[in-house]
Amino acid sequence: MKLLPFGVRDEPMNKHTSLHIGGPADFFVRVTTERDLVGAIAVAREHELPVLMLGGGTNMLVSDLGVRGVVLQNDWSETSVDGTTITAASGTPLASVAAAAARNGIVGLEWMATVPGTVGGAVHGNAGAFGSETKDVLVDAELMDLNGATWTVPTAELDYAYRRSMLQGTPIVVMRARFRGTLGDRASAVKRIKEIANERIAKQPLAQPNTGSIFRNPPGDHAGRLIEAAGLKGATEGGAMVSTKHANFIVNVGDASATDVRALMELCQREVREKFDVELIPEVELVGEW
Ligand SMILES: Cc1cc2nc3c(=O)[nH]c(=O)nc-3n(C[C@H](O)[C@H](O)[C@H](O)COP(=O)(O)OP(=O)(O)OC[C@H]3O[C@@H](n4cnc5c(N)ncnc54)[C@H](O)[C@@H]3O)c2cc1C
Repeated sequence: MKLLPFGVRDEPMNKHTSLHIGGPADFFVRVTTERDLVGAIAVAREHELPVLMLGGGTNMLVSDLGVRGVVLQNDWSETSVDGTTITAASGTPLASVAAAAARNGIVGLEWMATVPGTVGGAVHGNAGAFGSETKDVLVDAELMDLNGATWTVPTAELDYAYRRSMLQGTPIVVMRARFRGTLGDRASAVKRIKEIANERIAKQPLAQPNTGSIFRNPPGDHAGRLIEAAGLKGATEGGAMVSTKHANFIVNVGDASATDVRALMELCQREVREKFDVELIPEVELVGEW
């Protein structure tokens, strides 16, 4: 094993994912500035180590065997506002973008307040909620490849679809993103944020470790409805359970392993396929060594 001149060895990933699941990362590096992010990627390249970008760890199922190479935790958080455009560093919590917008009387980004995770994760996966998606408010994104080359792409070139982008399955790093809202007033933005936060609290099992929606909604239907109709609300595998509050959430009810969650996902897929002839596609990303 090659040694990196920085970071932590064999860092348990369960400390860094919203599901509280995941084996060790060979190397774990936390960055808080653009310079550190660029530098860490250069060092990983020198050592020929693969890099896994970690934002909030809110859309990942990390394997029990963990992650080979470097996990780069992106805590580089920065926003600036120009008119109705907000530029945010990729490690900025999405909620901070929503807050910056509301403070400046910009509306249209309120939905971001309740989606956990970072700008990088949202641009990578086209996160969305309450009828809006990242692609609807993104102007462009600055990207970097693992050789350190950077370039900016307009939203149209990211091939966005529902929870999909051309960035998925590539090692391309999101550096910055520019979002645009419309001029409104601060009070209505704050009111809207409170409304959607209350709606979430009412419908989602936020008190238990989870990773948001486990499956994408199939066209014209809801994954949660199908899983519930298949009789799987409350179903368990080891320490993982299909939430009794919202069937498209798998919650960690006691030392669940990644294997438990994966087995429960496969059970949901199998039952929904057999009963309704619908193929459920995971929204959560399975990462690490399986
Ligand atoms: C309670 C709860 C509710 C949720 N509700 C929603 C919702 O309403 N809508 C929704 O869309 N999602 C939702 N999610 C899922 C999750 O919040 C989003 O997918 C979010 O965008 C993930 O961001 P992250 O920073 O945590 O990404 P991570 O989980 O850290 O990473 C996810 C993927 O993005 C990649 N990535 C992260 N940062 C970068 C970067 N800078 N450059 C390149 N790739 C990067 C990672 O390598 C990984 O492949 C929810 C999750 C939870 C726990």
